[in-house]
Amino acid sequence: MSLFQCYECGCRENTATCNFWSRSTGQWRGVQSQPWMLCSACDPDIAKWHDQFPRVFLPKGMFVCNERGNLAHKDTGDENARAYSINEPAAKA
Ligand SMILES: [Zn+2]
Repeated sequence: MSLFQCYECGCRENTATCNFWSRSTGQWRGVQSQPWMLCSACDPDIAKWHDQFPRVFLPKGMFVCNERGNLAHKDTGDENARAYSINEPAAKA
């Protein structure tokens, strides 16, 4: 069970609460979010947030999953991802 950043919306998601493993096409630890890394809300096969925990939006492309399975800031390694939370990005037209 690990955390990752959704490629589409930038939110913090858990690998166990979406289709992460069935969509996985390669390396995910230590790399920036890849196009196949989608949260449950952005996954067209689910299309809604799971409500297992609050959806926290983070600046896109700024977080990686570290060795401990936590989401860490790609530059500082800071695991307190919530400190970087932003408002929900506006939906794409
Ligand atoms: Zn998403």
